[in-house]
Amino acid sequence: MLNFFNKIFLSIFLVFLIISILFVPILYSISSEGNFYQDEYSDEILLSNNGFFWPIPGYTHISSYFGKRVSPTSMASTYHSGIDIPASQNTNLYAIEDGIITFASWGAGGGYTVVLKLTNYPNISVSYCHVSPIFLVKRNQEVKRGELIAKVGPKYVYGINNNPYKDANGKPTNGATTGCHLHLTIKENGVAVNPLKYYR
Ligand SMILES: [Zn+2]
Repeated sequence: MLNFFNKIFLSIFLVFLIISILFVPILYSISSEGNFYQDEYSDEILLSNNGFFWPIPGYTHISSYFGKRVSPTSMASTYHSGIDIPASQNTNLYAIEDGIITFASWGAGGGYTVVLKLTNYPNISVSYCHVSPIFLVKRNQEVKRGELIAKVGPKYVYGINNNPYKDANGKPTNGATTGCHLHLTIKENGVAVNPLKYYR
């Protein structure tokens, strides 16, 4: 009789053990999926596998991911070439790696834009879009990983003749944008890739 109850107890124990081993990791991964970066790394400076510096330390919320999307404003693309990280105007932006500035000017849909070509990864270029028109770097300037190279720009800009990018009231915007944020594009051999692949 005692042996029978022992067997039942052991069976129940084993079932619980199996359930906890199988399902706890699954539940954990479901709960962290989607806002992985925000939850795991907020207020930390992110470093990638390559040692790439996170371009906007302290800001890890991504309002628009890389790839297909519904266009947030007229003239913004339905295939998003990068990631959007909201931050207030004048938030500091840093070089993700050593490199050379190849562009620091008005870049149409990207608004005021800084492009960094990486020294140690010559096939990779990094674009910082919707930045401040008060540029901190100029073309052909060498910069170091973690160096301040730009600031988040204003939503509205007034220095561009015939700026086609406007909000609903016709006010000229800093490229195709609905508010202050960093748009980060990383290109490999001229083709945009998901920037987050470097930060997982
Ligand atoms: Zn964007």
